Amino acid sequence: MGKLEDFLEERKRLGLLRTLRPAELRSGTTIRRDGAELTDFSSNDYLSLSQHPRLKEASKKAAEELGAGACASRLLSGDLKIHHDLEEKTAHLKGKESALVFNSGYQANVGVISAICGPGDAVFSDRLNHASIIDGILLSGARLFRFDHNDAGHLETLLEKHAARFENRLIVTETIFSMDGDRPPLKDIVRLKEKYGCQLMVDEAHATGIFGENGSGVAAEEGLTDRIEVIMGTFGKALGGFGAYVAATKTITQYLINSCRSFIYSTALPPSVIAADLAALELLKNEPFRRKTLLENAAYFQDELQKRGFEIHSRSQIIPVVIGNAEKTAALSSLLCEQGFFVPPIRPPTVPEGSSRLRFSVCYGHDRPILVKLADCLDKACHV
Ligand SMILES: *Cc1c(COP(=O)(O)O)cnc(C)c1O
Repeated sequence: MGKLEDFLEERKRLGLLRTLRPAELRSGTTIRRDGAELTDFSSNDYLSLSQHPRLKEASKKAAEELGAGACASRLLSGDLKIHHDLEEKTAHLKGKESALVFNSGYQANVGVISAICGPGDAVFSDRLNHASIIDGILLSGARLFRFDHNDAGHLETLLEKHAARFENRLIVTETIFSMDGDRPPLKDIVRLKEKYGCQLMVDEAHATGIFGENGSGVAAEEGLTDRIEVIMGTFGKALGGFGAYVAATKTITQYLINSCRSFIYSTALPPSVIAADLAALELLKNEPFRRKTLLENAAYFQDELQKRGFEIHSRSQIIPVVIGNAEKTAALSSLLCEQGFFVPPIRPPTVPEGSSRLRFSVCYGHDRPILVKLADCLDKACHV
């Protein structure tokens, strides 16, 4: 058999084969798959904005006025006023001088890290950082040092030992970890980056729209914006739209426009997408109750799980229950599906071997009875 077939067979044997199964419909927090209506606990639509009439109307209007596509990269004719409008408003939200829009968070991380770091540089990266961060580091050719998850002590050990040997040193961390829902000791990391003369980049993919004033993020919430060089985040999660941003100094964004390949060599995002992102930013200001309710829902669900004996380390709307074994996790996911909940199993290589989990994304639109019912179902399934 060929190499590809072997790979797929092996994946199947391990119970790790990934397949696509399209949803027939999404509405509110309900998803219809294979004819069954399920409450979706897997989406990143934390504020339930993707279905907001304002976003949909803004998209429609922009498509009517400007067309369905941007038709060229930003540096050619794809650059529209609306992109700049989004960049200005994003920079304002993040409290940074400048912002640059990227076509996705994946493209932002891969492009930015490989543009600001190269061979001869060092990147110190949290062990659980997102794949897009790892890929950016690998592409850069910089030396990669991984520090233990959220462990500033280990980061300092590595900095002490290695920092002086490299010309440029970058530290990268997420501010809300995508598969764990926890937060880094950001103040300590900032102190270390200053002590060892590094730059710091944070990924606010799961924090943007939720934490900080008007959803400005964790860096802003902790008052650290000015001490972090590069803050990236996405519009495709809590903001319900699509795309990503990097907020930094004007010098850094100018540099990226001139050197970042994932920015330069890709068609600009369509007006309809940018318009939805803009509408979402407006709603962060005008409908702060969404953020408040979401965080209350998340705290409530954490509490309900803890009451039933589950160990919870989350400090956000992302609430994982680590099961360990991949097949057992898949079986629990199927069981929850039979009870009306969509909670896909998260397995290696997305998470480390032996830490397969059910990851519950709590959203604004989940009401308390449904959260209690889910906690009860999980309790029954796990504690028999
Ligand atoms: C989702 C995610 C990304 C990628 O963003 P996309 O816009 O979906 O490509 C980057 N970093 C983190 C931490 C993420 O969770």
